[in-house]
Amino acid sequence: MIIQTPEFFIKSKVCGSTFKQKINGRHREYCNDNCKNYTKYLNALVKTIDSIDFTNHEYVKSIKSDLFSVVNHMPKKNKEVNHDCNI
Ligand SMILES: [Zn+2]
Repeated sequence: MIIQTPEFFIKSKVCGSTFKQKINGRHREYCNDNCKNYTKYLNALVKTIDSIDFTNHEYVKSIKSDLFSVVNHMPKKNKEVNHDCNI
């Protein structure tokens, strides 16, 4: 007799897609490594920005411009994304 571990569905915190989660064991928050890494690097970026001394405001505009340019590395429409994640 095979006893299967009960499963339930959970939503990925990044892309919102649903994935199976087993009742026992460590619970995942993300559907795949892509979503997990996105959160990891986003948190690292925010932590880094928080650590910058902005008392000299001269370079704030430059940093904002750099961050804005990061958006240009992302696809403009979902149909350009060529993987199973909905980021
Ligand atoms: Zn996801």
